[in-house]
Amino acid sequence: MKHTVETFENHYASLCTAIARHMPTADMDRIDRAVEYAREKHKDQKRKDGSPYVIHPLAVAEIVAELGLDEEALLGALLHDCIEDTDASYDEIVKLFGRTCAELVEGVTKLTRANFTSSEQAQMENLRKMFMAMSKDIRVVLIKISDRLHNMRTMQYQSPAKQLIKCRETMDIYAPLAYRLGMQKIKWELEDIALRYIDPAAYQDIMDHLQAHKEKDEAFMRAIQEKIRLRLAEVGIHNSTYGRIKHVYSIYRKMNAQDKTMDELYDIYAFRVVVDSIPDCYNVLGHIHDLFNLVPGRFKDYISTPKPNMYQSLHTTVIGVQGIPFEVQIRTWEMHETAEYGVAAHWKYKQGGGDEKDFEWIRRLLESQQDTDAEDYVSSFKIDMFDDEVFVFTPKGKIVSLPAGSTPIDFAYFIHSGVGNAMVGAKVNNRISNIDTTLKNGDVVEIITSKTAKGPSRDWLNVCQSNQARTKIKQWFKKEKREENIAHGRSSFEAEMRRLMLPLSALTDAELEQTLLKKLAFDSWDDMYAAIGYGGLTATKAVGRIRDDINRASRPQPERTGPLRLTPENENAKHSRHSAGGVIVEDIESCMIKFSKCCTPVPGDSIIGFITRGFGVSVHRIDCPNTANRNNPETAARWVPVRWANQEAQPFDTTLELDCITRDGLLLDVATTMTAARVRVKELNGKDLPGGHSVFTVRFEVKNVAELEAIRNKLLNIPDVIGSRRGQN
Ligand code: MN
Repeated sequence: MKHTVETFENHYASLCTAIARHMPTADMDRIDRAVEYAREKHKDQKRKDGSPYVIHPLAVAEIVAELGLDEEALLGALLHDCIEDTDASYDEIVKLFGRTCAELVEGVTKLTRANFTSSEQAQMENLRKMFMAMSKDIRVVLIKISDRLHNMRTMQYQSPAKQLIKCRETMDIYAPLAYRLGMQKIKWELEDIALRYIDPAAYQDIMDHLQAHKEKDEAFMRAIQEKIRLRLAEVGIHNSTYGRIKHVYSIYRKMNAQDKTMDELYDIYAFRVVVDSIPDCYNVLGHIHDLFNLVPGRFKDYISTPKPNMYQSLHTTVIGVQGIPFEVQIRTWEMHETAEYGVAAHWKYKQGGGDEKDFEWIRRLLESQQDTDAEDYVSSFKIDMFDDEVFVFTPKGKIVSLPAGSTPIDFAYFIHSGVGNAMVGAKVNNRISNIDTTLKNGDVVEIITSKTAKGPSRDWLNVCQSNQARTKIKQWFKKEKREENIAHGRSSFEAEMRRLMLPLSALTDAELEQTLLKKLAFDSWDDMYAAIGYGGLTATKAVGRIRDDINRASRPQPERTGPLRLTPENENAKHSRHSAGGVIVEDIESCMIKFSKCCTPVPGDSIIGFITRGFGVSVHRIDCPNTANRNNPETAARWVPVRWANQEAQPFDTTLELDCITRDGLLLDVATTMTAARVRVKELNGKDLPGGHSVFTVRFEVKNVAELEAIRNKLLNIPDVIGSRRGQN
């Protein structure tokens, strides 16, 4: 512990030291005024350990100073609990310390008031996004993380129940955020303290083990360190080299992931070589590989490809003289600062900075964050977390994300169209609100419904922000306006009947009417017209279902001529009513359709049918090699013209083969691209070819050839995908 005596004077002195070292240009008079203000406001409060409360804001400000943030952030840290815990007001802080400082304090207060605990793992990403979205200014996040760090450091004074809640929240929200912001040091400290309370036995085991092996570990690290230093001195590369044991939580995670005890765990040592320039990094790498044996497959070049959180270094794992593997991280001083302080390093380089442009840069950084985990990446990658979305809670604490500007109307239709249609009012944060209120991040929204609700009003269409709500409201109107729908549906149904030259009289034929309605699964023609009118059914589909029956009734002995007569083996195919898959076989009323596996046609492709023995008609793309023999006299008669029916699109299986230059992560990129395009992938595999090439085969569902081409283009945009062709299984 840094402070053995928890007094105001001790903490103030140590804060001044940190400011002098990290923020030498700060205005000490202004800071002293803020210190006095905080001391006065918190004067009646004590911390859990009995020390004066003001020690907490002083300690948080010290962390902010060590991060090298600006003066406004330092003031924000000093005053961060004033609005929440004392009679200080936003306006008063504006008056005394300016608007920026007051806004930072207010931002932190909002985060303090919000509840970021959730038992659902699936909600974590949304919680973190909400945290970011509520903060607006990155300094608010940094102050809040510093606040949490100090609370964690003094966690021993809290009740066991509170310790658990706070530590889980730290693991779920604060440590991942610190990581995203590139603040490795703080992330490690947060994780290690949290582990101590979440799994005390395991924590103690690791600590005991480390303690017991301390001398051996230190001797090992000293030996390696000396060996590296000696070599670099010989070749004249200026460096700072040191070894360390990885942090407790990362050892804990490795043990669990690999199901190993500490003795079996290797790779707990990490060495760092910090040098002056990037060329030196690569030179050092060469010397390390010369001194020690390389562990294959562990080299990572984060200098040429930085991590999304700006982290840069070369990583390699090698084996020392005693057969113990260890990791070496090689980086420049600038990279080192960024690795330790992340986003905060930005202020370190640019004392007193922080104009709008910088925040743009940080926003971009946060938006481009991609986790190595594809799923996580896809769920976060479309999100402009500052402008496009608002995160609100259901009364049960589930997070709902809606487009920015959303209202309780959007919320209601997001929950369920039934809730929207029955809505008569809304409560926001437990208070009755207008249903067109704009929702803010963190609002708790409750919808009041009534069985006697009259349904949505047309004005709602102008108020709501989400397409989902708009679509559902329109749907309601469609359904409610039955008369109009019937008229509309009837005219398109009759047009389709006429197009296929089917007699309208069949519909009112006493013998036929019930059969037809039964086939259509409607009680009356009006019901069916209404369904067509609001788009629940297409006229084509409806007529298609009853076409055969009408034909059979009006032409009892249908004549089939020409070479396309079905063979006896195809009798069962003929009786199969479903003209499957949206393909019409010319001249054959209805038969079984299957899509050939060899060329996987999709709507829009030019196609041709082949009458198989016993399995109906199989459909091929016209350019499929298997159609090459269609002029062969023996089989020519069995090739029949087919075309795509104008049916509602249903998905088709198709296969693409991608020619690629082999590299790590390519399979992931392909998978990610497919998921991002919302394509259902049914099969995805890769095959290495000689010469550093590989072929990926992707089988997936598409609606038509246009969609297929769009996906193909996206895939071709992936770096190292150099060609593609339609699959020939
Ligand atoms: Mn606090």
